[in-house]
Amino acid sequence: MHRLLRGLINFKTELAPTMRPLFKDLSQGQEPELLLISCSDSRVVPHLLTSEEPGDVFVVRTVGNIIAPAGQSGFSVGDVSEASAIEYGVEVLGIRDIAVCGHSNCGAMKAVLDGRQKLAALAPNLVAWLEHGEASQTRLKLSDFIDPKLPEVDRLSQANVLQQLDHVASYAPVAKRKGEIRLHALWFDIAKTMVSLYEADRGRFVALDEQEIGRLLSAR
Ligand SMILES: [Zn+2]
Repeated sequence: MHRLLRGLINFKTELAPTMRPLFKDLSQGQEPELLLISCSDSRVVPHLLTSEEPGDVFVVRTVGNIIAPAGQSGFSVGDVSEASAIEYGVEVLGIRDIAVCGHSNCGAMKAVLDGRQKLAALAPNLVAWLEHGEASQTRLKLSDFIDPKLPEVDRLSQANVLQQLDHVASYAPVAKRKGEIRLHALWFDIAKTMVSLYEADRGRFVALDEQEIGRLLSAR
């Protein structure tokens, strides 16, 4: 609690004065250009990775950056919270770029690898939620482009990012805008402090260093 209070005081005294004009502009509404779905992991801080300011990114954080897919009815087969964010982001806010960001050493992916049922007695909700990450194990077997030198948990995490993007695409607001909405697969290597992007034309995750970002920017 003390840490929280100290943080709030720091925001009020150090950050709020400089950010007040921005928040005043934002007080009447938001026009974010990106929907970013990341893991709840404390080491993954979306606005740090993207250097964005308040108002720029509509963020959903879930355990394992998992999005339960849509069922036949169009409703989520899991929790409707994530689906609601997709509907609101795309239909109401008009967002056309959606990214899923996974990361190294992900506890959720470890649980999937180790067999999530081991957690059944302690965390039944978590076990149910991680079911939506199970398909990523099959996805990994079919993804020989994922770096074999990475630890298994990280390889699964990269496959999971691609799998969860497919789940995102199963929702009507995204599915009916195929070609208009751009889907991005990001992966954060915590130890290297490096974000990679899955580049479909190169068929693999590519580290986003200055050279690669320059190449991508000049290609647009
Ligand atoms: Zn994680």
